[in-house]
Amino acid sequence: MAYKKTIDVQAAVAIAAAEAISAKTQGTFGVGGLMLDQHGNVLQSVHSNVIKQGLIFDPTAHAERQLIDWYYAEKARGAVLPAPCDVTIVTSLDPCCMCTGAILAAGFNVLVAAPDLSAGINYDGAASFVALPAALRTQAAASFSYPAVLGASSYRRSASGAAPKSFFIGKTIAEPTQALCSLVFEATSEAVLALFQNDLPREQLRDPATLPADHAIVQGLKQLYPDALTHRCMPQQPDAGLAPFLRQAMQRDREHGGAGDAVALLDGFGNLLLCMSGRLSQSGIRSAFMETTRAYAQLRYKLMAGATPERQQEVQQYLGHPKEGTFVFALGPDDSALSFMNLGAYGSTMEGPLPIYNPAQFQYVLPRLSDAALEQLCAAMPPLYRDVIRIRPVAVADQLLASELSACAGS
Ligand SMILES: [Zn+2]
Repeated sequence: MAYKKTIDVQAAVAIAAAEAISAKTQGTFGVGGLMLDQHGNVLQSVHSNVIKQGLIFDPTAHAERQLIDWYYAEKARGAVLPAPCDVTIVTSLDPCCMCTGAILAAGFNVLVAAPDLSAGINYDGAASFVALPAALRTQAAASFSYPAVLGASSYRRSASGAAPKSFFIGKTIAEPTQALCSLVFEATSEAVLALFQNDLPREQLRDPATLPADHAIVQGLKQLYPDALTHRCMPQQPDAGLAPFLRQAMQRDREHGGAGDAVALLDGFGNLLLCMSGRLSQSGIRSAFMETTRAYAQLRYKLMAGATPERQQEVQQYLGHPKEGTFVFALGPDDSALSFMNLGAYGSTMEGPLPIYNPAQFQYVLPRLSDAALEQLCAAMPPLYRDVIRIRPVAVADQLLASELSACAGS
């Protein structure tokens, strides 16, 4: 059966730009994207949903990440969709580390309009993908496309990366459209990043373990995770008491098609808030960290959206930003695409410097890379992750916790 070509690169990028403008009107990052099948038909288009009603709704709700979860959700409902290698994501802005890891883990192609010098995977413009673990660079070079931008201004560029797929009629981006993609993002990023720094300082936080059991905050936590607030350690010092919770989540992760991936979130008082597994059987990118950071952000959003200022203040007091607490990964980072996605999603959760009193916010129990390899991985990440957030996962200090989990990981 012969198919007629249906779309230009320029027309596809214009759709992404229109989505980015919708994102700006919502007050979130001005980024949009769409998904095309192997003939250039639009399957779906979305924009960033990180911010809603002036509140953090979901730090992982970037356009590309949402498109990938949409794809898997449609497949799960029985929709007939082409394989990821036949699908192209068109995005108004260079994918961040989270979205890049998700795209590579799932195996989609991507076509990129504007650069992102801070968080983009091609932040240096060389299309050599040095920010990725070496094992992933070839795949990225073969699937990430940066079409030429025609024009005479600073937006002009020659094509790099993979060639745009053959179904595109025209293969270039017009200068005004490229400029629009850049300008819409630039017009939003400062205000959105400021919202990530809106949380209360440590001195004003209160211990949720002191709340009555029927309080909406406690009930919200227990609904997400029935064991919430049943374990407590010294702040920032996860101990062996966390082992049963992580072990149970690791087991659940295996039942959901994972390799024993589990992540706990402790608050600044040392309370266990959440401990979740991944759901890879539902979507190839629903890792334990994605589930955990999303669940926590959406709980805060649900309790605050539309609430009185007093109520919003109370939620902020008892449920501080995760940067005040500790994420504990059962399995440390490795050089896979999913692990890179997690590092990126961690960056998207923080979106700014970690508090100086909490440099070990990201801890892991079982190492999967040598410390030197992990150091190298973090040092290669784009400037936002490397210089601003300074992502540097560290092994938990408690040896007993490590030995309790390694027994579990081996079984
Ligand atoms: Zn992203």
